[in-house]
Amino acid sequence: MPLYKSQTLKIYNSLSGEKEIFSPINEGNIGMYVCGPTVYSNVHLGNVRTFMSFDVIFRYFLHLGYKTRYVRNITDVGHIVDDVDDGEDKIAKKARIEQLEPMEVVQQYTVDFHDILSLFNFLPPSIEPTATGHIIEQIEIVKNIMDNGFAYEVNGSVYFDVIKYNKTNNYGILSGRNIEDMLSNTRDLDGQSDKKNAQDFALWKKAEPQHIMRWPSPWSDGFPGWHLECTAMSTKYLGNHFDIHGGGMDLKFPHHECEIAQNEACTGHTPVNYWMHANMLTLNGKKMAKSTGNNILPREILTGENPNLSKAFSPSVARFFILQAHYRSNLDFTNDAILAAEKGFYRLMEAVDGLATISATTNSSIDISSWKQNCYDAMNDDFNSPILIAQLFEGVRFINLLKDNSATLNSEDLKTFKEAIHSFVFDVLGLKDEKAVGNNNIKLEGVVNMLIGMRNEARSNKDFAMSDQIRDQLIVLGIQLKDGKEGTTFSVQ
Ligand code: AMP
Ligand code: ZN
Repeated sequence: MPLYKSQTLKIYNSLSGEKEIFSPINEGNIGMYVCGPTVYSNVHLGNVRTFMSFDVIFRYFLHLGYKTRYVRNITDVGHIVDDVDDGEDKIAKKARIEQLEPMEVVQQYTVDFHDILSLFNFLPPSIEPTATGHIIEQIEIVKNIMDNGFAYEVNGSVYFDVIKYNKTNNYGILSGRNIEDMLSNTRDLDGQSDKKNAQDFALWKKAEPQHIMRWPSPWSDGFPGWHLECTAMSTKYLGNHFDIHGGGMDLKFPHHECEIAQNEACTGHTPVNYWMHANMLTLNGKKMAKSTGNNILPREILTGENPNLSKAFSPSVARFFILQAHYRSNLDFTNDAILAAEKGFYRLMEAVDGLATISATTNSSIDISSWKQNCYDAMNDDFNSPILIAQLFEGVRFINLLKDNSATLNSEDLKTFKEAIHSFVFDVLGLKDEKAVGNNNIKLEGVVNMLIGMRNEARSNKDFAMSDQIRDQLIVLGIQLKDGKEGTTFSVQ
């Protein structure tokens, strides 16, 4: 029986403002779409935090036995500076400044994004589609919205008619914003824009002659509006009605509000059952942002090269620091806070290492089943990673008692305990026992050096069959010996 059948998971739904019991559309299957990065610069630690929140959510779904299709896109066109309709595309702007092809910018920062995520031990999503790879789908959606009467064309650009949409639907359903307030808070368009109303948003923009990123369409050579790509890619891979849509809190309005409007204008129904929003990472009290420069780059954490850091920290320490806060809480980055997280992380890892040395006895003096369920309850309560970590430290206390012989576990409970610690620490939270990796490298080096010594001895005894056998068997294991002037060295493939 899959684990999810025995657990009741609750998810905070931004749409209702409440924690709701999670029930997927198709039993045992989950479709989740998360807005990915706009690849015009390096991701900062704040972006990493949001993606990490969804990485842990994805990991927990997999742990519970759900077949999960996790789609996270790459925004490589359409995201306009300051999120307004009449500005410059973020990627085109970077390409202009750096005198690169826009696709060179996209390639450089997509590769960097992947490198960073793998350094921090993220699982890859199931599908990672790009906006430029889905222009045809986006044009189809614009046609559909126009056919249904919710969009209009002016001078080769197409806009979504928010006022008309709001007569039959609720624009503001997600963000809680009220259209009358929005209208009274916006200036007149002063003839500066083709839009009928300031709230209308671009579905398709006609490209100016100098604009490089352009595609043919029924209306003009141009490019899609930012919100459109996520509607196109989420529904293409997950269907018109899917389980979860996530992103950072700052995407709730206008991006996600507009996505709902686009979907409803196309299909007549709401696209997503559970909207999830991750809170911001701040640095010294202010939001980390690419545009303001108030940020720490993930690589700077690993080298310590940032004025806000007193030293370097490992990826798992950074991960542990981030996961000590619930994804919906604000988290402020300070050097002291990550130093404290480092202590906690190594205390946890030391205990996890110590667990291997504990032996079973005939009786259990600790109720491991209840503790294990407490760990599940933490994650079932809207993925409460800080409560889970508190439970894992309760596990550390048990390990210390067991080591002192002040507590005992029978073999079945000890097995349950080891498996649960392993699952939650490594599989669900995605932490790595870096010391163990380091130790294993030292051990491997010792063993290979011992074999090199034996091979040298065989050679000096003219036992070439033996020396070749050692070399060839190491090759089979992916270890290559290299004879040089300074002696024999090795590399692991
Ligand atoms: P962007 O590349 O700007 O589209 O952002 C990628 C993701 O990072 C989005 O989900 C944003 O909401 C999120 N994000 C941006 N800034 C922060 C921050 N300071 N803390 C947490 N998440 C952020
Ligand atoms: Zn999006």
